[in-house]
Amino acid sequence: MRKTMVVVDRRYMNHFAGQLHPERPARIAAMIEMAESLKRSALKHSAPRAASMEELMLCHSQAYVGSVERTANSERTDFDPDTHASAETWTTATLAAGGVLTAVEAVLDGEVENAFAVVRPPGHHALPQSAMGFCFFNNVAIAASWLIKVRRMRRVLILDWDVHHGNGTQEIFYESPEVLYMSIHQYPFYPGTGWLDQIGTGAGAGFTVNAPMPATFGDNEYLRAFDQLLMPIAQQFKPEFVLISAGFDAHYRDPLGGMRITEAGFLEMTRRLQLLADECCEGKMVAALEGGYDLRALADCGRIVIDELGRDSEEHITAARDGQRAVPIIQRASYFLKDYWQIAPSD
Ligand SMILES: [Zn+2]
Repeated sequence: MRKTMVVVDRRYMNHFAGQLHPERPARIAAMIEMAESLKRSALKHSAPRAASMEELMLCHSQAYVGSVERTANSERTDFDPDTHASAETWTTATLAAGGVLTAVEAVLDGEVENAFAVVRPPGHHALPQSAMGFCFFNNVAIAASWLIKVRRMRRVLILDWDVHHGNGTQEIFYESPEVLYMSIHQYPFYPGTGWLDQIGTGAGAGFTVNAPMPATFGDNEYLRAFDQLLMPIAQQFKPEFVLISAGFDAHYRDPLGGMRITEAGFLEMTRRLQLLADECCEGKMVAALEGGYDLRALADCGRIVIDELGRDSEEHITAARDGQRAVPIIQRASYFLKDYWQIAPSD
């Protein structure tokens, strides 16, 4: 059994985006209830620290960070049609970015082997100079930048399985060969980015990998893309740390997403990433919550991922043989990425 940390805190419920907003405090309440029901001696619960101004500025401009800080003075500030701050948002958002850093530090210090940071508000749409799509600070991107700038790592993988493309994370690292950003997401869909030809630029060319999946794809198609596209590239990249942007809105019950991933699908994706981390970086991996708007699906998927993080790796994974509908996407992705990685998709 592995030692796993869950970072969660009731203070994550303090950010309020508006009545009937899907990104609501009850999401954290459901996750806290789930996390408290987990009975495992090797599971450590931990409260988050706040990210510092300097840490937020690893990915965001000083002017933008200041504009979020000032929202603490008013009851409501609108950043875009979906993204609203309340007086508590600034503090909550610094705890969200800090929560991922708390998890990463615990793994680096050897306190635990891996961790799940159940944070809110989410981060992967947040851009260097603006909030977007329920997100204020790009929690996972800040952790990746921190690993590179502060801990001097040279290769960090971010795997984003949230149903939406993480346009913020992609933009932040688009010219960087130090962060391999891989996203599997519904397409066409919000926010509109994440097509196959977006592969990075300059020194970062080849270090952005998008697997855009049509609505109604499920476990088989996702696992086929993992086994034939995403994991082969990640193995060649040899990450020193694995970060997961773990939204659960690709779940079949999610009210915003149109995909059909089950709990078993999230388990299999986690297993593949943990095996990769075992091969490349002594298992060092941190997952952080992004989206996910069905409360039962959130708790069920959260439980299954945290359980899998605690399990010792199996040596073999049965490669996906079904999911033929994903093959044309894998083949086209391979075409765009052929100058950078060895990919051999079969049909
Ligand atoms: Zn999402």
